Amino acid sequence: MPERLKVCIDRVLPSDRMRFHPTVRRGGTVRAIIPIGKLWMNGSTLRVRFIGGTAAQRATAREQALWWTQHANLNFVFNDAPDAEIRVAFDSNDGAWSYVGTDNRGIAFDQPTMNLGFLDGGTAGHEFGHAIGLAHEHQNPAGGIEWNEATVIRDLSGPPNHWDEATIRHNVLNKYRADQIRGTAFDPDSIMLYFFPGSWVKSGVGTHANEVLSAVDKAYVASAQAYPKTAPTVVDAVALKVNATRRTSASIGKPGEEDLYKFNVASGGTHIVDTRGPTDIVMKLFGPNSHTSVIAEDDDSGVDTNALIRADLIPGEYFVQVRHYNRARGTGSYTVKVRRP
Ligand SMILES: [Zn+2]
Repeated sequence: MPERLKVCIDRVLPSDRMRFHPTVRRGGTVRAIIPIGKLWMNGSTLRVRFIGGTAAQRATAREQALWWTQHANLNFVFNDAPDAEIRVAFDSNDGAWSYVGTDNRGIAFDQPTMNLGFLDGGTAGHEFGHAIGLAHEHQNPAGGIEWNEATVIRDLSGPPNHWDEATIRHNVLNKYRADQIRGTAFDPDSIMLYFFPGSWVKSGVGTHANEVLSAVDKAYVASAQAYPKTAPTVVDAVALKVNATRRTSASIGKPGEEDLYKFNVASGGTHIVDTRGPTDIVMKLFGPNSHTSVIAEDDDSGVDTNALIRADLIPGEYFVQVRHYNRARGTGSYTVKVRRP
């Protein structure tokens, strides 16, 4: 095993782990980079708390996190807030890993959401890529990687990883199902692609370690499918009125695009937010009085491919993120409404 083989774990919550399927898709235009529904709202400010670490380690983490915000419409604030969205530990015995995107808010505040057990090259940049919602590029179904499974399992079962087979399948061998992700062609220069040796793949051609953002990484996080600087942000969210007489009309123009809404709950109780129309979208509800605290997410609970969230809400301000689910269809007009049943 080469000494530099330090493989990252992108930690996924159990409900999502069940959705992974080892589907191989060839020659497609879809790319595994963002698992559906893990993106923060455009324009979000994510607070970062460091748990331990030397001044030099913290400086490296901070510097590489900011690689992303030069291109993505997100802000990182390194204020060590107790309830920071991103909580970074530096445990040298725990490898490098991170939860993905909004899943970070599902983790108890006294736990780290990221570990930087080593900081070689662009490791912190890679892990902060997960924190903003990016997945592993080598799990891209458009990449067409055919693994030598026995070799991969043998190498990663041993030191320094000591992973069990399920972990190896999750982190390396399994690919995201093509309809769960969005993107373009496989990017061999992506920082989200990890180094692996030629012996791991049938082609015998391994990858090089990518230690800076690729041109595609930069363009992608700045695109309509991720965090465009030219698009409305959470600050510009369209106001919805609870129990409005008319449904609010909107449209999704480009695949992957998002629309943002907000509403006020004056008196607590059950609320239902839903979309209607031919669009295929995923919806997330954030709040109260927070644009990063995820209350619920939904894909297809509404009519056809529409989303519906039913939640008990206390008084406060709430945000709704409506994202196009990337398939060939499902852009166009839709309506949204929040009501009390
Ligand atoms: Zn990773």
